[in-house]
Amino acid sequence: MLQYRIIPVTPFQQNCSLVWCDQSNKAALIDPGGDVHLLKRAVADAGVELEKILLTHGHLDHVGGTAQLVQELQLPVEGPHKEDAFWINQLPMQCQMMNFPLVQNFEPDRWLEGKDQVSVGKEVLEVRFCPGHTPGHVVFYHAGRKLAFVGDVLFAGSIGRTDFPRGDYDTLVTAIRQQLWPLGDEVQFVPGHGPMSTFGHERKTNPFVADHRFG
Ligand SMILES: [Zn+2]
Ligand SMILES: [Zn+2]
Repeated sequence: MLQYRIIPVTPFQQNCSLVWCDQSNKAALIDPGGDVHLLKRAVADAGVELEKILLTHGHLDHVGGTAQLVQELQLPVEGPHKEDAFWINQLPMQCQMMNFPLVQNFEPDRWLEGKDQVSVGKEVLEVRFCPGHTPGHVVFYHAGRKLAFVGDVLFAGSIGRTDFPRGDYDTLVTAIRQQLWPLGDEVQFVPGHGPMSTFGHERKTNPFVADHRFG
């Protein structure tokens, strides 16, 4: 089965997730945005072996620790969708804008698309393409655990900002309703920031995407 632990990183308290296959002990970091020392400690505490980095989108608070981890541990990077390449290529500018210490650019080893699958040990996560917050945002879904890692697509009680370059509100709302809701009301999700929730709870109560807003 897939196991996971959430490690909030950066001043934005971004929810990096350490996920691992408890059969093989192989692990991945989803969105290692920074504070690499905390991430390495979490890996050591869990007693697992990191095999890759998975990225939901190219924003600094989600990818900022990637280059350092790749350099130190030679890990492959999978995701996001290639439409987010411009965000990754602009990492130095993102650092300036957000007042972060400078981090290096990197090149993902594998760009992802909707319906792709990524492996963590013997576990498989399904990829859903959910643009709108950024044009190349992906979500990772584990069917066995009914658990999704949604980055900045959806939050408990809110949705991702769409006022960045190439963000689009209608695209985001459509992605949430078409790519996430069909996975099931009982699905729990880890958002990029803040507490976990379930799709069913958001369909009832989220002021942006609750079902009643759409008749
Ligand atoms: Zn973001
Ligand atoms: Zn974020």
